[in-house]
Parts: sequence; C-alpha cells; structure tokens
Amino acid sequence: MGQLMGFLNIEKKNQKERKTVERVLDWNEYKIPLAESEAKEQAARCMDCGIPYCQIGTTINRGTTGCPIHNLIPEWNDLVYHGLWKEAYDRLAKTNNFPEFTSKACPAPCEGSCTAGFVSSPVSIKSIERAIIDRAFDEGWVVPKPPKRRTGKKVAVIGSGPAGLACADQLNKVGHEVTVFERSDRPGGLLMYGIPSMKIEKDVVDRRIHLLEEEGIIFKTNVDVGKTISVQSLKESFDAVVLCTGAGKHREVTIEGRDLKGISPAMEYLIASNRHQLYGEPLQPDYDAKDKHIIVIGGGDTGEDCVATAIRQGCKSVVQFGKHGKLPEQRTEKNPWPQHPNVFSVDYAYEEAEDVLGKDPREYYVETKKFIGDEVNHVSNLITGSFKKDQDDESAQKTWKADLVLIAIGFQGAEDKIFEDFEVSRDSSGRVIDADTRGYQTSQEGIFAAGDARRGASLIVWAIEEGRKAAAAVDLYLDKKLSLLH
Ligand SMILES: Cc1cc2nc3c(=O)[nH]c(=O)nc-3n(C[C@H](O)[C@H](O)[C@H](O)COP(=O)(O)OP(=O)(O)OC[C@H]3O[C@@H](n4cnc5c(N)ncnc54)[C@H](O)[C@@H]3O)c2cc1C
Ligand code: SF4
Repeated sequence: MGQLMGFLNIEKKNQKERKTVERVLDWNEYKIPLAESEAKEQAARCMDCGIPYCQIGTTINRGTTGCPIHNLIPEWNDLVYHGLWKEAYDRLAKTNNFPEFTSKACPAPCEGSCTAGFVSSPVSIKSIERAIIDRAFDEGWVVPKPPKRRTGKKVAVIGSGPAGLACADQLNKVGHEVTVFERSDRPGGLLMYGIPSMKIEKDVVDRRIHLLEEEGIIFKTNVDVGKTISVQSLKESFDAVVLCTGAGKHREVTIEGRDLKGISPAMEYLIASNRHQLYGEPLQPDYDAKDKHIIVIGGGDTGEDCVATAIRQGCKSVVQFGKHGKLPEQRTEKNPWPQHPNVFSVDYAYEEAEDVLGKDPREYYVETKKFIGDEVNHVSNLITGSFKKDQDDESAQKTWKADLVLIAIGFQGAEDKIFEDFEVSRDSSGRVIDADTRGYQTSQEGIFAAGDARRGASLIVWAIEEGRKAAAAVDLYLDKKLSLLH
C-alpha cells in the first residue's frame, strides 16, 4: 500500500519537461521521464484506498472519470514502491496493450479521480506508468509472444489507429488470423500522422507495430477499403470485419471568405508538418507558419497541437480562438471529485507560447465572423465578434492580422462511405447503432465497429478500450466462448 501517510508527507512530482526555449528548436518529445528512485517515491503516495476511483473508467457529466481500461493502478503502484518492476509490468500489460502511448499522451483521467486528490495532490499515476513501461522495454521484457495455436478464423481490421491495433492485438493473442488494412502509407492512425512527435515520437509507434508483426498480425498499407479493395471481397475472405476507421470528418466554418487561400483544416496542416519532419517532403506555403501571423480557430487539443507546431515552424505570432470562457482555477460545485477536474491549466503549447512569443495565445468567447482577402485572394485579416451573450456586436468587433488560418473546431464523426458500403445502420449524428446489447457488432452480422468511428472523436485510452471490447465481441461471435470477456 505504499508508505503510510505517503500522500501527505511526500510532494507530488510529475514527469519533468525540457526547457521551452530549447525544445521549440526541435521536434523531439518535450517530456523527461522520472528517474527510477523518483517513481518509487511517487508510488509510495498511493494508499490503496479501498475504493480506487482511479480505475473505474466511466463517463460522468460527459467527462471521463477514472481509467477507461481499468488499469490495476493501486496494484502496480505498490509493486513499484517495493521495487518489483517486472511484476508491475506484468500487471500493467494485463489491461493496457500500449502503455508507451498512454503514459506519454493520456490526459490521465485516473489522476482526476484519485482519492488522494480529494485532500492533497493526486498520485502521479501517468508518470509511474511511464516508468514501468520504459523499464520494461529497457530490460527486454516486452517481446513478441505469438499465439501457441491458431483457430483458423480470419478477421479483417480496417484502420490502424489505437482502436484497430488493440483489437488486432487481442484477437491475435487468442489465435485468430488478423489482417489490418490501412489507407495511409504507414500504420498507426492518428498516433503516426495526427499527434505531433513532441507528444509521441514516431519510432515509438513503429516499435509497437514491429512487435505486432512479429506476433503474426499482417499489416496492409495503402489500401483504402471500399476503393482499393471491395467490401464484398473482404466479406467473402474474412469471418469477421472490424471498422476502426476513426472520426476523420472535420467540422467546417461556413462564413464569408472561407474559400480564400491560406485557410486550412487543422488536420491537413498537422499531417503535412508530420510528413515534412519524417520524410523531408516539401511544405506547401499554406502549411508553413514561418514568419507568419497564425490564427487557430478552436480552443481544444487539436488547436493546441497547431499552436506548438506553428511555434516550431517559426511563426511571428499565434492566437487561438476559443468559443467558451476561461476555465476556473479551482473545481466548481458542479464539477466535484471524482469527476475529471475542468480547471484552467497551462499545457505544453501555451507554456511555449508564453516563453517564446511572450503571450498565452488563448482568446476566449471569440466568434469568427468574416475572412478578408488580399489582391491575390489570400487571407490577410479576420473579423470577429463575441459569443458572450451580454456583449453587443459592435463593441465586440475586432480585426486580426492573419497570414495563415487553421480550423480546429472538432470532428463530425466517421467518414460515411465505408459505413454505407457495409450497409451499417447509424443514428442521425452518424454514430453506429449497435445491433446487440453487448455492443460493438453493428446492424450487419459479423461487422463490428470500435474507437472514434463508434464513439466519436475521443482519446487514445478510450480507443484502446473500444478495440479490446470489440475484440471480445468478435471472439465471442467466432468461437462462442468467453475467453476475452472482462
Ligand atoms: C491532433 C490530435 C491530437 C490528439 N492528441 C491526443 C492526445 O494527446 N491524447 C489522447 O489521448 N488523444 C489524442 N487525440 C485523440 C486520439 O488520437 C484518437 O482518439 C485516437 O487516435 C482514435 O483512435 P482510432 O483507432 O479510433 O482512430 P484513428 O487513430 O483516427 O485511426 C483510424 C485509421 O483508419 C484509417 N482508415 C480510415 N478509413 C479507412 C479505409 N476506408 N480503409 C483503410 N483505412 C482507413 C485511417 O487512415 C486511420 O489511420 C488527438 C487527436 C488529434 C486529431
Ligand atoms: S491509461 Fe490514462 S487513465 Fe489509464 S492509468 Fe494511464 S494515464 Fe491514467
């Protein structure tokens, strides 16, 4: 149970961060893992509190409370405290297929609901998870473990993001033959081309893909299912199909001037930047922020990654428009523990903007009204109003200089075509309607769905959970056995 009263006597420490002014000069990870002794000390703060809300993994008030994959957090905290690292890794691997991704980029809803956080600071769960998985790779404990027998059943997984990878991993473990089809030229989904390398370096993604390949999973890249290969041929060749195609349909702004040059969806910008770093592909001018004034429309995490990317590209200034107000410094009565705390924080990109450009880039309640173009039809300015109800239009109106505008106002769910091709029923917002009470099987027999494609744009950890649950449902469908059910 850690050290008696450890949560009161030991100060919380998270993974450290590289200095902002240094890290913006490269594209490497911005975090520095805790030293082994520090991780042990932090694990001593866990009191194994009897009702570990940290691992409940549910949704309260539309926010995630506790770890969605139900990581056995108090157990591995205690093992780390006692220096039993291999045992801690074995516990972690039971519930989390890819701790190397979550321990770098998860927003750690586990910590938001940690009982220690009720009276003191929560246990540094994510940093301890990182220490365990780093140690496991360093020690050579993470090795390919191909299944001992094959069932002869074949499953096609479409999409290789965290949902598709977790689903493939689980199904392969129990002996089904899994082929993952990926439209892109490299597997990983948003882990590879969406999330910037400052958060997850790409060799970390490749390392896991190679392990999965060595375990027997087949990856077929550059295959756009429904185009390169027909849905009918997949149905004929496989016993089950899992759609893990993500929620790539981006939300648009439809205001005057949208057709001007220099205005792009955030994902196009982030993917172009990632590919530029990975392969040296030339950056088109509208994806290059160097010496430009950048406006990011949308106050969420994708917008934040655009801010960090623009800073690294050498922008002159960057402003991020949010629709809502600034979050409170402390939890409000409507957001009590153990809910994830909706409080103001200065995340990596904002720290960088403050230190390098002298200003937090966030502006609140900003409503974009109109884009203005120059003589060559390129965006040059932007006119905004306010979403604040008590502010009249005229006094709220503001003009901003803009050489490049990035639209990051969220996603509208999965692309329609593949779901139409498979004739899968969806609701009015495009979400898949589960055909049975266990979920994950669609209205079509043998066709399953998981991850962002099923639940809407979310988190890596939810995608892993969805992939695992869908695999359990597929396994049940194929073998009529409960081997993978939680
Ligand atoms: C910019 C950005 C930053 C993010 N940062 C974080 C973060 O820090 N932490 C966090 O927890 N979450 C983050 N997320 C969210 C997280 O990345 C997603 O929730 C997660 O990747 C969803 O996984 P998925 O497997 O469902 O889909 P995806 O990762 O989107 O993968 C879907 C895959 O399906 C492929 N595909 C689609 N259609 C076809 C087809 N017809 N044929 C073949 N392949 C197809 C796509 O090419 C893609 O590779 C971020 C998201 C974005 C956009
Ligand atoms: S996966 Fe995320 S929520 Fe779960 S323990 Fe790790 S950091 Fe916490």
